[in-house]
Amino acid sequence: MLKIQTLSSGSAGNITYIGSDTTNILVDVGLPLSTTLKLMSQANIDPHSITGLVITHEHSDHIKGVTDFVTQYNVPIYCYNRCSKILRKSLKLPPHHFIETENTFSIGDITVNCFPIPHDSQFCLGYTFQHNDSAVGVATDIGQMTEIIVDSLSICQVVVLESNHDIQKLIANPNYPDWLKRRILGNRGHLSNIDCGRTIAKLYQGNVSQVILAHLSEKNNTPTLAYQTVKQYLQTQGIIEGKDIYIDVAFQSQIGNCYCLD
Ligand SMILES: [Zn+2]
Ligand SMILES: [Zn+2]
Repeated sequence: MLKIQTLSSGSAGNITYIGSDTTNILVDVGLPLSTTLKLMSQANIDPHSITGLVITHEHSDHIKGVTDFVTQYNVPIYCYNRCSKILRKSLKLPPHHFIETENTFSIGDITVNCFPIPHDSQFCLGYTFQHNDSAVGVATDIGQMTEIIVDSLSICQVVVLESNHDIQKLIANPNYPDWLKRRILGNRGHLSNIDCGRTIAKLYQGNVSQVILAHLSEKNNTPTLAYQTVKQYLQTQGIIEGKDIYIDVAFQSQIGNCYCLD
């Protein structure tokens, strides 16, 4: 059994839960400890049961609660060796909290693989998690879709994938300065709804049957807009949402649906 559930997703903070019968992992703890614990309790996840954390990158919406969580529950951070220096510096935690890994490693009975994502941070990683014949993946904060991201995610049945903004809505947003628009739209920024749709059409050629749209901008997107843009693009490719593939949307302020693979 392999489970995946977003506890919070968006520019205000990100946490995703991955679990088997005996292993429980959090991908990022990007919210304060008290909020994290509230969300975990809503999802019936005991914080004492967490086996390890993995981190996507050092931006605050992904690490805000890591130091407090790790200190309180004495949970190790499994950290890809090439990223460990910057992560240690950002988190200001003693060295014994870190377990350095290669790009493939095990946490309990889950095999974890990490892969690089282009983004304007010191490092940015996506992850896949495998248990028996099941695999799930998480990839957000994607400036530009790459072959390695698509190839890595294609083995998964369920994928959490960024669908950050609607390009027109972002360009027309009067409250966003030009430099910020350029940053978000640039190839080290974030993935638009339409590029998310294009990616899902590729993932459909692999094993992926369920995608959870994630890291939606609260200002330049809506859950309906993201869903409709992706659904309509897939339709142009002959892929029918609800029949060929299923699309769900993750929330910022509430836990998402839990997907459980046998
Ligand atoms: Zn980021
Ligand atoms: Zn982010």
